[in-house]
Amino acid sequence: MVVDDLFKFTSFMVHEEPSIRVNQSTCAGCDHKACTFVCPARCYQWNEERRRIDFAYEQCLECGTCLLICDRGALDWNYPVGGFGVRFRLT
Ligand code: SF4
Ligand code: SF4
Repeated sequence: MVVDDLFKFTSFMVHEEPSIRVNQSTCAGCDHKACTFVCPARCYQWNEERRRIDFAYEQCLECGTCLLICDRGALDWNYPVGGFGVRFRLT
């Protein structure tokens, strides 16, 4: 199974407030933008025109990879509040 297939078995309860917040001023000075490569849900995109990270939290898989890879401390990372976020159904 590849990651894209995972979305066939996944649903989301999206809270109006993102549980992960991005410090845009830190990201603007980041020379590798690793989050844009490692996120399996492609939540992070570098917007060259606006010089900022566009972050789409709605399909976050809560894997924690972005928190591990960000060496600048730019992320305020939390799980969604109870009942919200990703729901996996693999069986
Ligand atoms: S979240 Fe971290 S890795 Fe991603 S652009 Fe910002 S500073 Fe860089
Ligand atoms: S926790 Fe995982 S899926 Fe969610 S934004 Fe970070 S890398 Fe992407």
